[in-house]
This record gives sequence, structure tokens and C-alpha cells, in this order.
Amino acid sequence: MRAEIIAVGTELLLGQTVNTNATYLSQGLAELGIDVYFQTVVGDNAGRIRQAIELARTRADLIMFTGGLGPTMDDLTKDALAEYLGRSISEHEPSMAKIAAMFTSRGIHMVESNRRQANLIEGSDPLDNEAGLAVGNALTVDGTHYVLLPGPPREMKPMFDGPGKAWLRTVMNEERRLYSRLLKFAGIGESSLEQALIDLIETQTDPSIAPYAKEGEVAIRLSTKALSELEANGRLDAAERQITDRVGQYLYAREDITLEEAVIRLLRASRRTLASAESLTGGLLAQLITRIPGSSGEFTGGVVTYTNLMKHRLLSIPLSQLEGTGAPGAISESTAALMAERVRELAESDFGVSLTGVAGPSESEGKPVGLVYFGLAERGKQTKVFTATLNGNREMIRVRAAKSLLYRLWQALSGKDVN
Ligand code: AMP
Ligand code: MG
Repeated sequence: MRAEIIAVGTELLLGQTVNTNATYLSQGLAELGIDVYFQTVVGDNAGRIRQAIELARTRADLIMFTGGLGPTMDDLTKDALAEYLGRSISEHEPSMAKIAAMFTSRGIHMVESNRRQANLIEGSDPLDNEAGLAVGNALTVDGTHYVLLPGPPREMKPMFDGPGKAWLRTVMNEERRLYSRLLKFAGIGESSLEQALIDLIETQTDPSIAPYAKEGEVAIRLSTKALSELEANGRLDAAERQITDRVGQYLYAREDITLEEAVIRLLRASRRTLASAESLTGGLLAQLITRIPGSSGEFTGGVVTYTNLMKHRLLSIPLSQLEGTGAPGAISESTAALMAERVRELAESDFGVSLTGVAGPSESEGKPVGLVYFGLAERGKQTKVFTATLNGNREMIRVRAAKSLLYRLWQALSGKDVN
């Protein structure tokens, strides 16, 4: 916000009064973070006050007036501004009552011109004058803010410090925009993430830190109100650093993208391809990936090998590996590894991934519901197998299994592989 101070009063131009109000206002505005670009002094002359307003309008968002709010005919600030804005003037009832009461209590007759001190430009908020009679005015017209304060420093100071600053703060708050940043996490549950950040979430108000979860993914939204993106980013960066210091290894994006999108982007950037072999997820992984437009550049294809026969026929996994006493079985580390390797070879892709496990509701091969093996085969590298015991019903286990695999793949691709 750029401000200009217009001090009104011929005595200032004559050098009879030192313009201490401008100094006081400049200091106060600087404390509010408002830059004062110009200080103007103009005499008690309607035409020249108007000229000063016209010029200030071109170079300031906030015009602060001091002086010319009194009862006499040379107090012209309100009239000049009202005329310039094409607005009417009315009497502010409470201020008028206060003026009348003052005269009554002192037992003196009120000269009619005193009513002028209760004047309010149409659309103004009144600023209470605790040390005198002239009511201050504050209004916004076409994006320019106008604040009218009395000339006597003993009246001007309390009005500016009290209702004036309060009014300016409100205006500045309204001009603040909401900026937010989304941090997306994978490989960590919502409750674990919240646990790791609980003190920040509970005590931090600016930016606010709000966690929320979608199936298999969790996110944190940082929000702050600021006058500029630069100001917002300063605060958002600081909050993000506090968070990543603790859980940075799970952060996969700083924008609203899914984990599969993050994986596809990494594959694209390194010009590598992926193929999948799925059992318990029945093609869910392939579905998540192929939802992304253009993913055919990275995803060569996938197979759903639900039965042992299909694992054998499509992926050439020996039946002796899958069934019979002493065989590792379909839900095993070694089968997961074979599935990933064979589909990678079949598709001639850089990565082959696999999912085999127990979606439930009942156990399988004597293995518990939720047990899942993830195979990750990479050209020229040792195949890795991860395991997890996932919670939830059948559908949740399937979604979480697909997301967990994507997380492992993201780790491998982003170099954040901690295992
Ligand atoms: P006014 O309300 O403009 O008639 O001002 C009344 C009195 O306040 C003047 O006679 C000055 O003594 C004082 N005054 C007005 N403007 C200023 C200013 N900018 N700085 C310091 N004193 C002022
Ligand atoms: Mg004056």
C-alpha cells in the first residue's frame, strides 16, 4: 500500500506551525508496514485542496488528511473531498449529540457552525475523537482509501492511534489474499503423519497446517493470508521446512498430483518404462496409471494373473513354485520377485512391478488378510521385494496395496530409496 499525507492549513504554509502531524503519521504508517511516498502541505483553499487530492489519487492507495475538520469557514477538508468524490455530506448523529452535550454542560450557546464538526462524507466510517469534537472520516472509493484526521495534535494522535489504525488494519486484512500450498505424502499413514507434526498442527496458526487424507495418500495444506505472493512464500517456505525436517522422506509432491502422476513424471523425465503383473489388485494399478493422459509413453502394459494357472501360462512361473507341499506359494516373496522379473522381460521395459497378497475377507494359503508382497525388478539390477501388512476391508487393502507399490517405485525413481 502506497500512502500520501496531505496536511491542510495555511498556518503550515506560513511557517507559523511546524508540520509535526506529518512526522507522526509517517512513523505510525511505517509501523503498519505502509510506505509513505509523498507528504503534501496545502492551504485552507478548496480549489487547491482539490488539486492536491487529484494528484495524490494518481500516486497513492491511501490518502491521509490532517487538518481542516474544525467548525470555522476555513475548515474545508471534508467539503473539498466530498465535492471531489461527488458525494453528499450528512451529520453523524452521535457526534452531533456529543457536541450539543458539551455546549449544554458548559452552559454556553452553540454557534451553528459547530454542527460542521459532526459532518460525515457519504459512505464514511466515523472515527471517534476522544480529545475533541470533530469526528474523523474514513472511506474507500474506487480502491483508494481516504482517512481524515483533525489538525490539533492532541486530537489527531489518539484518533490515528486508536480508531484510525484499527480501520487501516481492517482494510489491509481485506486486501490480503489467501495463499496455500499442498504437500502430498505417501508411505506414511495419516495418523503417523499427524503424530509426527502434532505440536505444529496444534500451535501453528499462520500459516495454518491442516492435514487430510484420501485413500492411500495423505496431504497437508498450508495456508496464509498475505499482501503478495512473495510475502506468502516466505511464510509457506518456513512452515514447509519445519515439516520436511521431520517427514521429508515421505513428501512426493508440492502440488495436487496423485502418486501415480508423480511416478509417471519421474519415468518420463528419465525416459524409462514400466510393466505390471497384478494378482490381488486385479488391474487396479494399471487402471490408476492409465487414467493419466499420455501414460502410454511410460506404461507398456500389464497382466492380471489371478490364478496360479495364469501366473504359470502368462509369466512362465513353474507350477512347482506356486503349489504343492513345500512350495513357496503364490503369496510369497519369491513369487512376487518372479512376477516382476517375468513381466519386465515380457514387455522389454525398464521396470517390472508385481503385486501378490491377500485382499480378504478370508485368509489364503494360510496367510493373513492384508499381507502383500510387492516385487520391483529393474533392468540390470537386483530385484527387490517389499512386504506390508495392510489394514482395512477388501477394497481398501487393494487400493492401499496399489498405492504402496507406487510409493516404492517413487522411492526408487526419486533416489529417496532408504532401504
Ligand atoms: P485545524 O483543525 O486544521 O484548524 O488545525 C487546528 C490547529 O492544529 C492549528 O492551528 C495548528 O496549531 C494545529 N495543526 C494543524 N495542522 C497541523 C500539523 N500538520 N502539524 C501540527 N499541528 C497542526
Ligand atoms: Mg485550520
